[in-house]
Amino acid sequence: MKAAVITGFTQPLEIKQVEIPKPKNKEILVKNIACGVCHSDLHITKGDWDEKCSLPRIPGHEGIGEIIELGSQVDNHLQIRDIVGIPWTYSTCLKCEYCLSGQEALCEQLMGTGFSYDGCLAEYTLMDSDFVVKLPDGMDPYTSAPLFCAGVTVYKALKMSGVPPNEWVSIVGVGGLGSVAIKYAVAMGMKVLAVVAPNDQNAVNLSKEMGASEVYDGPSDQHSQWVQDKLRGVQAAIVTVPLIQAYDEAYKSVKRGGRIVAVGLPNGTMSIPIIDCVCRGIQLIGSMVGSREDLKEALAMAKAHKISCKIQKRKLEDINQVFEDMINYRINGRVVIDFTLK
Ligand SMILES: [Zn+2]
Ligand SMILES: [Zn+2]
Repeated sequence: MKAAVITGFTQPLEIKQVEIPKPKNKEILVKNIACGVCHSDLHITKGDWDEKCSLPRIPGHEGIGEIIELGSQVDNHLQIRDIVGIPWTYSTCLKCEYCLSGQEALCEQLMGTGFSYDGCLAEYTLMDSDFVVKLPDGMDPYTSAPLFCAGVTVYKALKMSGVPPNEWVSIVGVGGLGSVAIKYAVAMGMKVLAVVAPNDQNAVNLSKEMGASEVYDGPSDQHSQWVQDKLRGVQAAIVTVPLIQAYDEAYKSVKRGGRIVAVGLPNGTMSIPIIDCVCRGIQLIGSMVGSREDLKEALAMAKAHKISCKIQKRKLEDINQVFEDMINYRINGRVVIDFTLK
């Protein structure tokens, strides 16, 4: 099969022919149709995180494909020809306090797809049958692929934000995560302020297209002041960008009792003024992906409210160019690899 392989952290992904894996025990073999490209794939490929994957490794964790082979211990909840999505969570221990309480994303033994095991930037992927989620009937595999990481991540973050209908939420950063966050927030009845990079007209247009009621594209260091003046604060801010300044501003932009939900991953620390935090009753919440149940809810809501991502289809061979475009903020929405493109 054709695969994009990390062979060294300073090198581009190598497109090469590798053996199609064989499913054992609880594994299934999926023939990929689509795979969204997430910022984490870029970080994994470049070895940006303290914890690095072993090499060679195939990244990719927003795959959708057809099951073509079942391992001997896969029970009948899955069948050949089912269309399933492959998320970041490849597997967890299923036994710890987090796994038992529906918080499997916090499991200390979580294995990441395209990190601990080979992922979906290849024509075929092996997956743990307990952790795939079927794509609901009638949903497009290409526009739905990003829901398996970006979608569930922002859905969970919005759930954690606790913003009731008709209250303001700000979505800080409108890229792959932020754009779909706006759609989910609107579907959940929230009023959305999108905060984009200064004078980024593409992001302003995308935010409006996705349903934001207000868009702020002014100087980044004045965002909180604008929010306090114009909206008297937001109930919660979902920070999707990897920028420390965005976190500092988001903290100042929430109203009393408000929440900051951390999703974007800058390397660094946030400084919180403790007296202000106590007196204003501010809550800071970290949120990483979601459980399988969160993913099912996110898919059901996407189907009911026709939520899909704005995508650009590219072929697997373009992956290094896609990473370049990500680094230079040239992507509007999400790139999805289309395995039928030659
Ligand atoms: Zn991801
Ligand atoms: Zn566990």
